Amino acid sequence: MGEAEAPRFVGVDVGGTKVAAGIVTANGDVLAWASRAVARGASASTVVEEIRDAVEEARSRARVGWEAVRAVGVGAPGRVDPQAGTWEGSSNLVLDSGAVPLRYQLEAWAGLPTFLENDVKAAALGEFHHGVGHGLGTGTRSLLYVSVGTGLAAGLVMDGELFRGTGEAGEIGHIPVVADGYPCNCGQRGCLETVASGRALARWAREVVEDAQWATSMGRQRLDGAPLNGQDVLEAAARGDRAALDLRRRLARGIALAVVIGVRAYDPDLVVLGGGVAVGGERPLLDEVRAAVGTLAPELRKAEACVHLTPLGHLAGVVGAATVARLGLSRM
Ligand SMILES: [Zn+2]
Repeated sequence: MGEAEAPRFVGVDVGGTKVAAGIVTANGDVLAWASRAVARGASASTVVEEIRDAVEEARSRARVGWEAVRAVGVGAPGRVDPQAGTWEGSSNLVLDSGAVPLRYQLEAWAGLPTFLENDVKAAALGEFHHGVGHGLGTGTRSLLYVSVGTGLAAGLVMDGELFRGTGEAGEIGHIPVVADGYPCNCGQRGCLETVASGRALARWAREVVEDAQWATSMGRQRLDGAPLNGQDVLEAAARGDRAALDLRRRLARGIALAVVIGVRAYDPDLVVLGGGVAVGGERPLLDEVRAAVGTLAPELRKAEACVHLTPLGHLAGVVGAATVARLGLSRM
């Protein structure tokens, strides 16, 4: 097969604040990608428009014509119905309408088979086929992908297949872990997400900065008056800010809870950390998570060794969505 006929897949990662699209090979290599900002509360039609723009820009950067593209895959946050091809938005991206027929809308535009999946589940599948799961060879059968971003969610691949339950499997961010803990967006208290997410990191940072006893460079960071976010804290930690380093270790203990829960519940070959906060924390955060897992569950020897950071970085969602497209097409 010549290069001109090499099959390409479009992977679209719809996030809470932006959409990213990439042109991806069957081996999971991203040839080019582009992204567009999406405002909170954006209309569904705006989101679809931004997706189209991002896809066209990525396609132009990759110099790939539509004739080379075999299928389109979309990973979207929150409630997704892969069979019906509908998406209901998420707590971070509240749509102005009910269930959006996203698959139909993109299929009509691209004229290609289009597949829809929850974003974290898509990333788990991409990780299994093209990320850590691939890198460690064919012996890997099961993988738990834990996405630490603004919130916390997970996707489980068992025997090479996504595990969905009745649809919501993997929402480990809302397992209550602190009795009478901090109120969560979901209405419960003390959810895992309240101690292991970018939102938690930002909340702790604001508490620290407001406390005059702490001298920290984090307080000077947001001169524009915007509230501190998780990324600000991770950047301050990378600069060696002591208060930020404490908060990163606190986050690591929260993520370690998620890892131990995941290993106890599913006993996977691998646990892979992804999402903006895990990726932003880089190797130091991974090392702290491993150490915290060792402290939390010393008898669970393999847990510490099975935790990895995604090698796909910020493109894990794009690669995952393209993997959903490739596998979806092969099953048609
Ligand atoms: Zn919750």
